[in-house]
This record gives sequence, C-alpha cells and structure tokens, in this order.
Amino acid sequence: MSAAQVRNPPVRRLADWPAERLRGLADEYGTPLYVLDADRVRENYRRMADAFPEAEVYYAAKANTTRPVLRTLADEGAGVECASAGELTRVLDAGVPAERVHYTAVNPPARDLDVAARLADEHSGLTITAGAADTLDRLAERGYSGRVCLRVNPGVGAGHHEKVATGADAKFGVPYDRAVEVLDAAAEDFEVVGLHAHAGSGISGEDLSAHRELVSRMGDLAREVGERGLDIEFVDVGGGFGVPYRPDDDPLDLDAVAEATREALGEVEATLAVEPGRYLVADAGVVLTEVNTVKEVPKGVVVGVGAGMTTLARPAIYDAHHQIRSLASGAETRPEREVVVSGPVCESADTLGDHWLPDPERGDLLAIGNSGAYGYEMASQYNSRPRPASVVLEGGTASLARRRETIADVTAVEPEDEA
Ligand SMILES: *Cc1c(COP(=O)(O)O)cnc(C)c1O
Repeated sequence: MSAAQVRNPPVRRLADWPAERLRGLADEYGTPLYVLDADRVRENYRRMADAFPEAEVYYAAKANTTRPVLRTLADEGAGVECASAGELTRVLDAGVPAERVHYTAVNPPARDLDVAARLADEHSGLTITAGAADTLDRLAERGYSGRVCLRVNPGVGAGHHEKVATGADAKFGVPYDRAVEVLDAAAEDFEVVGLHAHAGSGISGEDLSAHRELVSRMGDLAREVGERGLDIEFVDVGGGFGVPYRPDDDPLDLDAVAEATREALGEVEATLAVEPGRYLVADAGVVLTEVNTVKEVPKGVVVGVGAGMTTLARPAIYDAHHQIRSLASGAETRPEREVVVSGPVCESADTLGDHWLPDPERGDLLAIGNSGAYGYEMASQYNSRPRPASVVLEGGTASLARRRETIADVTAVEPEDEA
C-alpha cells in the first residue's frame, strides 16, 4: 500500500468501524439509527478527484441528501447532480453554487420543470439535462433558454442487477442515433453545453468493457458534434462506480477506471465529467439495529431486527447484499451460525438475507454495512412506521442530522377529522 492509501484507504470495511463508538450512539439516539461519517465522505471525494484530476466530479445527490453530506462536498468543491426539484432545492439551499449544479430531468413532472426553470432564472449557471426532445419543448414553453445538456442513451448497459442497468433502457436519454439531430434543434433555443450518459450502477474492477464502450461512444459523439460547429463544455459519462458490498470483494481500482475512461474517450474539445453517487457515501454509513426476536425454525434460525425494507430497501428491491456485524459485547466468544435476518414488515421481501453471525441473542446490537448510499433516501413509512433518526459524525463529534420521526409525523399530512 502506498502512503496515500494508508491515509485514505480505498474502502472502509464494516469491521473497521469502532464498536464502542457505535454502541454509544445506539444508546444515545436509539435504534434503528443511520450513522454517517462526513469525514469519510470527504476522503472518498478526494480519492475520486485525485483519480480524475482533469475531470469535474458531480456527486449524484440521490445517494444521500443529508445536509452535512451536501455541505461537506460543497466545501470540497464538488459539483452535484440532482434528480428532482426537491434535490435541486435542497442542494442550492446547502450552498452548492449553481454553476456546479446539474439537474437531470428523467420524464420530469410539470411541477419539477416549473421549479427547475424558476431556480435557473434565480441562479444563473445551473444546467438542465434533458433526456427527451419534448422535455426541451416543455422547458422552452416555460421561457427557459439557458444551459442545457443532452442525455443520450448509449445503448450499452452495466449493472449489478437488471433494475440498475439504465444504459440500454429506452426510458433514459435520446437514442444515440438521434442525438445529433436533437442537439442541432436544441442549439437554436438553448445554450447547449454538454453531453451526458449514465450506464447504471455496476462499474467493477472485473469488467470495464461496458464502461469503455459507453465512454468511447460519447467521445465519438463529442467529436461529431464538434465538427458540426457546436461548442460543448463537457462530456459527462455518468456514475456507477462500484463499492465492495461483500467483505471479500476487492475495492474498485479507481486509477484503472480513470485510465480506461481517458483512453476510451480519446481527444475531445470538452471537459470530462463523472457522477459518482454510492462511491462517495456507501462505506461512510452504517445502520444500527437491535435483535428483537430469535426464532428456531426447522430450516435454521430467523433473527428479527428493527431495521427492514422500510429502513434499507436495497436487499428487497435488488437482492442486494449488505454485510452485518454483531456489536454485542462478548460476541467474539460466541460460536458463529448461519441465520436469516428479517425486518419487522409483513412482507416476505422484507429480509436482509443470510448471514453468519455470532449466535444472536435478543437485545444484541447489529451494524449493517455500506448503508450510506440509498439507505435513508429509499426509506419509507410503510406500515405506518416512522423513519429512524440519522446521525452524522464530523471531526469525531456526533450530531443529529434528522430526528427520529413520530407517529404524529406520519399523520401530520392528513386533514383533521370534522367533528
Ligand atoms: C443514480 C445516478 C448516478 C449515480 O449512480 P451510483 O451508482 O450511485 O454511482 C449518476 N448519474 C445519474 C444520472 C444517476 O441517475
């Protein structure tokens, strides 16, 4: 390992989190609890920025919108990619300068476009990425004539699961073969500043071929567009930088990905942009939860915990694996056994999967790894269950980023009953 890697290791494993500290947080704030280390987010950003020194890095805010995360990245000089009017509003409120904010409109509802057009008026420099020709028409109808980027469907997909392989899904972006025509038309009404594509969430060390192909197609398109006299500022090749969800998965070799990206892009008269989401936040977060029931069943043991699909939806949606570690004092001395960890929701999809754990007991505290990305963001109030609190560590100090919801929060949006 190089000195830089010792200071800023490419992955923080679940085992690296200090058990004593996490136990203290669970005592103080209760469980389930989202814990996020903003200093680790900073490290992840710096590693990404170092690997892509010539590129602009836009954090895909949908992975985690906790305000201290947005502030930390704003402070580092990161740009931010937003998926909705809500994210756009919150990112600007957190102090990210509009020149570093992109809004990627995917089949945008009218309400989102209204807000985006208004915010772009108030904050010049904002860029709106459109993925369909009629999204551009809808922006023009709102009097928008500012910075526009075109999302292209590169026709290649990557992804650890079919539901996150967006590169070939027709929902996303203008078909590659129609991009030039749409860009030519857009240039008459807007300031066309960029090209964008995102292949999904699966850039892994094992196979960079889909990533290379996407980038190379974007390079070709940028050159073609340049030859037609359109000056673009950037070519954004999306996110999807993988993180090791399993303890024996290797961390992504970011330098190799950066090298492959540069090589595949070739010479272009535009700045490269990347949009990491999970890479910046996943290993900066854990979910703490407690064992509520331990049930022996004919096929093994079911361990019922407080966190479930309403806390961490990825296992239910994507069959994603999130490692679990017991933080119970003295757990090291217990024999390990294979158990099924299940949440409290009345759905069979509400499982956190099979895990080897020190023989679990009621009251044990567990930590669920890599929960910094798409954890709180995908949380819901299903089963009328209030969403858990979220705590952020910064410089060793813990502070509440989102308080625990109450049942009153769940019902607050209902009108009062008429007497
Ligand atoms: C979700 C998303 C990303 C980030 O994906 P990760 O897998 O979290 O890196 C980047 N760009 C766009 C357009 C996205 O929708």
